[in-house]
Amino acid sequence: MHPRRPTRRISVGSVAVGGDAPVSVQSMTTTKTADVDGTLAQIYALKAAGADIVRCTCNEEEAAEGLARMVPRSPVPLIADVHFQYRLALAAMEAGVAGLRLNPGNIRKPEHIRAVAAEAKDRNLPIRIGVNAGSLDPALYERHGGATAEALVESALHELALFAEVGFENVKISVKASSVPLMIDAYRLLSERTDHPLHLGVTEAGPPPAGLIKSVAGIGTLLAEGIGDTIRFSLTADPVEEAQAGRKLLEILGLRERKGLDLIACPSCGRAEVDVIRVAQEAEAALAERNIPLQVAVMGCVVNGPGEARGADLGIAAGRGKGHLFVRGKVVRVVPEAEMVTALVEEAERIVAEGIEARLAAADESAAAEAEAARAEVLERQGADVNDESERIARIQEIAG
Ligand code: SF4
Repeated sequence: MHPRRPTRRISVGSVAVGGDAPVSVQSMTTTKTADVDGTLAQIYALKAAGADIVRCTCNEEEAAEGLARMVPRSPVPLIADVHFQYRLALAAMEAGVAGLRLNPGNIRKPEHIRAVAAEAKDRNLPIRIGVNAGSLDPALYERHGGATAEALVESALHELALFAEVGFENVKISVKASSVPLMIDAYRLLSERTDHPLHLGVTEAGPPPAGLIKSVAGIGTLLAEGIGDTIRFSLTADPVEEAQAGRKLLEILGLRERKGLDLIACPSCGRAEVDVIRVAQEAEAALAERNIPLQVAVMGCVVNGPGEARGADLGIAAGRGKGHLFVRGKVVRVVPEAEMVTALVEEAERIVAEGIEARLAAADESAAAEAEAARAEVLERQGADVNDESERIARIQEIAG
């Protein structure tokens, strides 16, 4: 991971974006914004799934009125998404939103842009300049011969210049595209040209799994380069999935503290003593239901399991008819195979209540020796080369030699 690129810090309501603020997760409601109860229910679900900021479309007067009703009841800052009609941007600000998203591709009159920026300045509200490759100003499209990275960046910087004319700088920027290489190039270029915080996203990524993969590839690459201050996965799915995925990506990259379960499992191989997929699924369901904020490993064998997953807070490795429960790589208890998942959940709850050190101290004294004996027994029975590695290596040597 590269160090995070320094950006200026802005505030979206109570959520800081940019500077050294944690990278935040955004999502967008799919309900009609005028449907206050339905939209609020979705906003609460998004917050529970990990969203820090939620955007709602403000596409008609009734939507602005809905925002006015929701703002005081929302658990997260709300941003109004405005296209085409600058008056709706003014109306959304009146509704009390914490920020706006404007698309420079479809609100183009400089006097309208300046009017919105001047009002946002008076109200001390941030605006996201949300450039989208699919709705780029046709003049820029023509001049650059398409929606290139340069064209996206120029669109954003042009809008920024119009804002600057009225002394407005409370801005974050996005240059999204559905093409992952294009959005990566555009954000890299933009990050060299401005220190405004950047909102990352692959637009119209589509349904999972492809939509998730595109988003992870684009957003993850940039975050690993230290670029990006807030993110949104744009999936064709329940937006709760967007928020969960965004949050998970930040946790995986170490950019946010783990809020929920991180279940890791070995892929299983010739050594596996248990149906790893089934045990992992059962464990994931039981632990997620209890919202256990730990990294938990399900490993197919005691030969390599505890060692390979020693970085996990807790794990279980299968032995012959047994489960070896380990904490930070140390086997603390041996349980019958049928009780593997129950024991894992019980230990996870104890770790949450008592802490890792206390659970290591409470380890069953005979467990490590029992695991070592089981390991030796498996090696004796299966041999050291159960995955036929030496055969493959010999063939490789034949081919290469
Ligand atoms: Fe899983 Fe053991 Fe195979 Fe590693 S060696 S993949 S822990 S079964």
